[in-house]
Amino acid sequence: MERSERMSDVFASQVFSEDVMRERLPKEVYRSLLDTIANGKELDRGIADVVAGAMKDWAIEHGATHYTHWFQPLTGITAEKHDAFLSPVGHGKAIMEFSGKELIKGEPDASSFPSGGLRATFEARGYTAWDPASYAFIRDGSLYIPTAFCSYTGEALDSKTPLLRSMAAISREAVRLLGILGDSSTSRIIPTVGAEQEYFLIDEKDFKARRDLFYCGRTLFGAPAVKGQEMDDHYFGSLPTRVSAFMHELDIELWRLGISAKTKHNEAAPSQHELAPIFCTANIATDNNLLTMECMKKLAPKYGMACILSEKPFAGVNGSGKHNNWSLTTDLGENLLKPGKTPGENKKFLLFLAAVIKAVDEYQDLLRISCATAGNDCRLGGGEAPPSIISVYLGDDLGSIVDSIIEGSSIESRKKKYMSLGVSSMPSIRQDTTDRNRTSPFAFTGNKFEFRMVGASQNIALANTVINTAVAGSLKDFSDRLESAEDLDGAIDALLSSTFRAHRRILFSGNSYSPEWEREAKERGLSNLKASPDAYERFTDEKNVSLLERFGVMSETEIHSRREIFFENYRKTKNIEARTMLEMTMRDFIPAVSKYICKLCESLDARRRALPGAQGLCEADLAERLSSLLDKTYAAHNELSRLVNAAMKKSDEDASFYYKNTVIPRMDALRGLVDEMETLTAREYWPVPTYGDITFKI
Ligand code: ADP
Ligand code: MG
Repeated sequence: MERSERMSDVFASQVFSEDVMRERLPKEVYRSLLDTIANGKELDRGIADVVAGAMKDWAIEHGATHYTHWFQPLTGITAEKHDAFLSPVGHGKAIMEFSGKELIKGEPDASSFPSGGLRATFEARGYTAWDPASYAFIRDGSLYIPTAFCSYTGEALDSKTPLLRSMAAISREAVRLLGILGDSSTSRIIPTVGAEQEYFLIDEKDFKARRDLFYCGRTLFGAPAVKGQEMDDHYFGSLPTRVSAFMHELDIELWRLGISAKTKHNEAAPSQHELAPIFCTANIATDNNLLTMECMKKLAPKYGMACILSEKPFAGVNGSGKHNNWSLTTDLGENLLKPGKTPGENKKFLLFLAAVIKAVDEYQDLLRISCATAGNDCRLGGGEAPPSIISVYLGDDLGSIVDSIIEGSSIESRKKKYMSLGVSSMPSIRQDTTDRNRTSPFAFTGNKFEFRMVGASQNIALANTVINTAVAGSLKDFSDRLESAEDLDGAIDALLSSTFRAHRRILFSGNSYSPEWEREAKERGLSNLKASPDAYERFTDEKNVSLLERFGVMSETEIHSRREIFFENYRKTKNIEARTMLEMTMRDFIPAVSKYICKLCESLDARRRALPGAQGLCEADLAERLSSLLDKTYAAHNELSRLVNAAMKKSDEDASFYYKNTVIPRMDALRGLVDEMETLTAREYWPVPTYGDITFKI
């Protein structure tokens, strides 16, 4: 951004936004498009050509030559295929063309994307369909059209489609409940999301010099640096020049794309940073988060850096996650998770709060699954991120109100500030945002919930799909119970206290990182799915299938296909990691250490010859220790290699469990040996940059 440019001119300047639509579309078309957006409908064919034409003209004026249907296949990243606007008209001439048909539907020949058996490969054609609720934008000379990706038989092959369906479901159910409570003016509910993104920036040279970083996005070896994050001197520390220049350009690029990047700061680990946008609708927040990750990765090399988004790039220092802040807003702008000022408002608030608590308790496993990736397994439960146990933190004030509702007792007895009692005469609830428990996986933070388990590199779509659908489930149960109540107030009181009582076990305000909690959670019967494969297995449990099907979010076939893809991705990730370890061991570490041992032996000889009194204890001892470690490393390499070969013959699911139970412990063992050799080997002989080199360089 030139200094003369104003931020207001930059923001969303590359977006075919509502403002642009209003300006460029005939009134009726604009209105009809807004209606489509608000109600999540498919675009009316009748207006598609007009919209497409306006979009094309606008895009070309802004320098675009191509368009692309941008979609979210189940690999977890985004995909795009670019077509020029160009159409030949004969005589060697061409015109810029883009029809409504091309806007609405694309047919990438995308047979290589995972479909979990949904689409036989010979039926290569999946199709993409514009999601009008997410604005088109221009990037690198192409008009990006956010789309859903489906098979020809209509099954969702992407992450966006189920998210959109879940947003429709929760809107329907929340509107129904509000109606029962006497609200007839709210016609739509929008889940809102703000995803805080953590990431690492390291020197690009280091990134390229290590095959583990290069292939896997994280280190698979590395002895701890002498200094880690114990001094907490990086957290919120001043930004190094290179990082600050990167962040500045990133902000502007994101602003142009209509992404309201707001907060940036250093995180706890050395080289770790965070970016938080201002929240928006779940659908757009998801698209924006994916774009943010892409922009970060693309921009870093310009500053000689690499952006690392994987969940655990370096052992021993904090990994990266994504804090998924979630709430519900009405179309009139009311946040339903904001405690009200009057008892009546509070009753509504408490019902929605109860709905979330019930949802989280009943679908702990689905929430866990939504964050289960091979990468995130390395982060969760490491004393830096929540464990694999889901619990809800409410804060002291709200916690004691919920307790008193359960016990039917006076809040006054626990907290003096509250005067009257009983649910019907709920006192006003103070909104206390200072009340924080940073160890909780699912924390109420004043007017929203913060789900802290999601991994830094993940698409947040599934996590939000699960939250939306599970809460829709609670809301439906509530409506069913309240609908025919004669005494609505009494029925709400009873419903709240029975719901809070039934799901009290999920509430926890202590330290979620502590070993005591793991024991206590077990006694409470909470689920604790430690590794991803354990979680994936639960995806097709009857209760989960029934929930997702009941609300039209995923069909049984779609659920099964996703389960297959989960296992497939896990297996592939672990396989690549194991093979990277084998390669680095054999081709980097073994030759280096062997050479250094020779060097030690040479100098031992030389020293003894030149200095008859010298025993050369140092060289002899080092050489012996390294020599023994080297042999063990070789053996560990061969053993791991044998296991990786054995895994090849297994199905994705079997291989995933095999990796988890058998291969990963061997990978850890090999790493232990190599890391020990690293601490004994001369710096100039060590073939890759070390943790200290990498994390403190920038
Ligand atoms: P922190 O959690 O670090 O204290 P904030 O409370 O300011 O920071 O917010 C963190 C994120 O939560 C931001 O992305 C913010 O936009 C988002 N957020 C705030 N209110 C809501 C809401 N009602 N719904 C969803 N996200 C929200
Ligand atoms: Mg936060």
